[in-house]
Amino acid sequence: MKKLYTTALILALAIAAHAQVARPKLVVGLVVDQMRWDYLYYYYNEYGTGGLRRLLAEGFSYENTHINYAPTVTAIGHASIYSGSVPALHGIAGNHFWENDKLVYCCDDPKVQTVGSNSKEGQMSPHRMLSTTIGDQLKLATNFRSKVIGVALKDRASILPAGHSADAAYWWDTSAGHFVSSTFYMDKLPKWVDDFNKKNHTEPKFNIKMSNLGVTMTFKMAEAALENERLGQGDETDMLAVSISSTDAIGHEYSTRGTENHDVYMQLDKDLAHFLNALDQKVGRGNYLLFLSADHGAAHNYNFLNGKRIPAGAFEYKKAVKDLNAFLQQKHGIQPVMGEDNYQFYLNDSIIAQAGKKKQDVVNDAVEYLRQDPQYLYVFDEEQISTTTMPDFLKTRMQHGYIRHRSGEIGVVTRPQFFGAKNSPDYRGTSHGQPFAYDNHIPWLMYGWNIKHGETNTETTINDIAATVCAMLKIQMPNGCIGKPILR
Ligand SMILES: [Zn+2]
Repeated sequence: MKKLYTTALILALAIAAHAQVARPKLVVGLVVDQMRWDYLYYYYNEYGTGGLRRLLAEGFSYENTHINYAPTVTAIGHASIYSGSVPALHGIAGNHFWENDKLVYCCDDPKVQTVGSNSKEGQMSPHRMLSTTIGDQLKLATNFRSKVIGVALKDRASILPAGHSADAAYWWDTSAGHFVSSTFYMDKLPKWVDDFNKKNHTEPKFNIKMSNLGVTMTFKMAEAALENERLGQGDETDMLAVSISSTDAIGHEYSTRGTENHDVYMQLDKDLAHFLNALDQKVGRGNYLLFLSADHGAAHNYNFLNGKRIPAGAFEYKKAVKDLNAFLQQKHGIQPVMGEDNYQFYLNDSIIAQAGKKKQDVVNDAVEYLRQDPQYLYVFDEEQISTTTMPDFLKTRMQHGYIRHRSGEIGVVTRPQFFGAKNSPDYRGTSHGQPFAYDNHIPWLMYGWNIKHGETNTETTINDIAATVCAMLKIQMPNGCIGKPILR
C-alpha cells in the first residue's frame, strides 16, 4: 500500500513537472478596416459556409462590442484592439495629429529607412505608441521566444498591431507595387518576402487598396508568413496580426451600399475561407486562437439617407476653421487655429504666446463662439470635459480620446450622420470618426482554441479583446489595458 502510494506520488510529481501552461500554438488577429457590425448579417445569406459563417457557426460572437473613445479612426482602432487601451493612454491620437503643434502622421519615423524599396513609404515605426500590445506581452511572457508578425496593406494597420518588439511588420509600398518593411525591424527583407514580391506585385502606383485584389494579396502574404516563418510550429505560442485595408478604401469611395461594397465583402469571405483552411492544414484545427474585429465602422452616405427622409448632412470643417480664425482675429488679433482633425480644433501655442495672450481666454472665447453654431451638439474645452454638460457615455468617449500635446484643444460632437465636407470624397461615399453606433459598433468574433460556440449581447468594448486574449493565454495584459476579460 505504501509502495503504491509512493509510486502514485512520484507519478503525480512527474506529471506536474512536465505539465505546461496550456496555450494555443498560434494567435491570429484579423482586423477588417471599416467593417460595421451589421455587415455580418446584411450579407449573411450570401456568405459561403467556410468564411465568416464558419466563425459565426463554430466560434463565439460578442454581438454588442463598442468603441469607447472618439475619434473612431484606423490608427486608433488598431492600437486600441491590440493594446486594450485608449488614446489617453496609448497616445495614438489619430491617423494624423499635431504633436506639440507639429503635424505628424501616426507612424512616420525619419530615424528609420525603408527596407525593400527606394521610396519613403517604409519610413515607419510604432515609436509614437506609448503602450504595449498583445504581441509585446506574449514576447515578455516567453522570454522573446514567441514570433510576432504583422501584415497589412496600410503601414499603420500592420505596425501598431504587431507592437514594439515584433519580429516584423510588412505593409504595401504603393509606389513600388509590393510589400516592404523598415529598418526598425530588419536590415533586409527575408528571402521568402523577396520571392513573394517577385511573384506577387502590381504596376508601380496602382492603387491596390481600392481593389478586391488588395484583400487577396493581404491573405496571400499572411499565408506566406505562416508557412515560411513556421508560425505555430515552434515550442512557444506565436502571433500573426493581419489587417484588411481595401474594405476601408472602397467604403470611403463607394459607401456602405452598392456593388463595390458588396463585392469586397464577398471577396473577404472567400479569401477568409481559404485562409482558415491554410491554418487548419499548417497549424491544425483547434490549435490556433483567432479573433476578428474592426477598427471602426462607417456612416451611411448622407445623400442616400436624405433620399429616405433620414436626417444627415455635412460637417464643413474647413469653413469652420476659417470662420473661427476670423472671429479670433477680430477678438484677439490672432489666427491661432492650425486646423481641424479628429473632430478637434488645434491651436498654435506660440502664436498665442507671441501675441501675449492667455491661452485659456482664447479657448474660452473659441468655445463660446462655436457653441452658437447648431451643427454641433456639444463644443467643449478638452481639458474640461468632466465639467461640461454632456451625456456620460459621450464624456467617457471624449476623455478616453484625449491626450495633451497630441489632441486638439477644443472638441466638438456633430449631430449623428453629420460628417465630411460637401466637396470631399465622403460626399460620394462615406467616412467615420464620430462617437455614434454606426462608427463604434464593431464585430468581435473568437474562434478556435478553447472557444465554444455561442454569442452574447452583454455590452463589451474594443478594450476587452486584448484583455480576453491575454487572460486565455495566461499572460499579463498590455500595460495600458483598461479592458476586462470576458470569458464564459
Ligand atoms: Zn477609413
